[in-house]
Amino acid sequence: MKKYFITAVCATVFLVFGGCSSGDDIQQTPAEILYITADEVDLPSADFLRFYGETSGIGLPGGQASGVSFQIFREYDGNFDMNLVYPITPSDQLNQMLTDLALESINDFVAANTRGHIHMRPRTFSYNSDILSVVLDLRFYGEASGFTARHIAISYNLYEEKEIRPQDLFVYGVDFRAAFAYSLREETGLNGLEQFTFDDENIYIHMPNRTLTLPLNSLEGIWQSPSPPPQEIRPKMAITFDDGPHYRLTPILLDALAERNIHATFFLLGASAVAHPEIVERMHAEGHQIGNHSYSHSNLTRLNRRQVEEELDVTSGIIYDITGEKPTLLRPPFGALNDMVLDVSREMGMAVALWSVDPQDWRYLDYYATKAHVIDRSVEGSVILLHDIHEISIYAAIYAIDNLMERGYTFVTIDEMYRHSEIDLEAGVIHRGIYRDLTRR
Ligand code: ZN
Repeated sequence: MKKYFITAVCATVFLVFGGCSSGDDIQQTPAEILYITADEVDLPSADFLRFYGETSGIGLPGGQASGVSFQIFREYDGNFDMNLVYPITPSDQLNQMLTDLALESINDFVAANTRGHIHMRPRTFSYNSDILSVVLDLRFYGEASGFTARHIAISYNLYEEKEIRPQDLFVYGVDFRAAFAYSLREETGLNGLEQFTFDDENIYIHMPNRTLTLPLNSLEGIWQSPSPPPQEIRPKMAITFDDGPHYRLTPILLDALAERNIHATFFLLGASAVAHPEIVERMHAEGHQIGNHSYSHSNLTRLNRRQVEEELDVTSGIIYDITGEKPTLLRPPFGALNDMVLDVSREMGMAVALWSVDPQDWRYLDYYATKAHVIDRSVEGSVILLHDIHEISIYAAIYAIDNLMERGYTFVTIDEMYRHSEIDLEAGVIHRGIYRDLTRR
């Protein structure tokens, strides 16, 4: 009897997954194999859960993540009544892992009983397009073992073809995981974190008779994303640095940007650029955008037209000599503008790039206030203003960048951000970031 049962499951698995190495008679075909969609699947109903002793079964989290289909297998051989739904994910490897674990559990039950019912339902959770969590809810009723329930959960990175372990989800060095697992074990007697799933809002800890839900936002500082979404689909912001280059600090910043594979926009002073051409060359070579911040950091509105033209023209010439490209962005010192300055910028083919996030780093020279301001105020499409001539600004920038990247943002040049948003940067026109530009119009 036992042997027949296992063969039947094996045949199912063979048909469903193309796997299973049983040498037994596969002619004993399974009763029913169906391809179905979510609408047709009877996910655990309240009745079913009550029947099997679930205490809080209504509104169980999870469902059918995109890219996953379900397959039903039903079989009654006179002794064991099976009603199994398998998830078919885009990963053969994940499918095989789930099948192996389910079979192991089913075989244990069959070995301990001569008759019984076996019920399996999957729920799937999607964190992003690459990361999928699956939990198999298994319910058993056997003559010998009575009612039992089990959850088998796997979280998986489809892109890397790799299982995600609890330790991948918590910031390195934080002992939260151990502490949490301990308190859960104390409370439930279970090694709680072993059976977990997660989506983009919560972690779910699966216990036989209930599911514990932990909102990700309650785990801030502890939780780390197992993989940020791909660069090209992340929301973009632009971080900008004025008044450089600085011979010592700017290279530290460039190293940090290169390490993170992100780009910034630098508004250079002509006088500093001509003093450190190798840094300007590096900025250009590494894909950063370079803008004009005048030669001497003068308030352009206090100069006459000829002086403004000279400040801007000399600076653009210096940048051109080093990089082979003339800047297309002007950021006037102090943001000081009048019609004449706008007119000159239009004549010189430069859009005026102001900002939407300004922590006034140069005024307060306060590392904590600067990073907090940037983190709190920046949103998709922001232009962040900092100065790479102050040490606190460099380290506040790096901290804020890491924090915002962990939340899914990426950093691009002003040019790229506008190109992506399909908004033109117009010469002689003031731009203050995507959101400000759109709301102003
Ligand atoms: Zn400045």
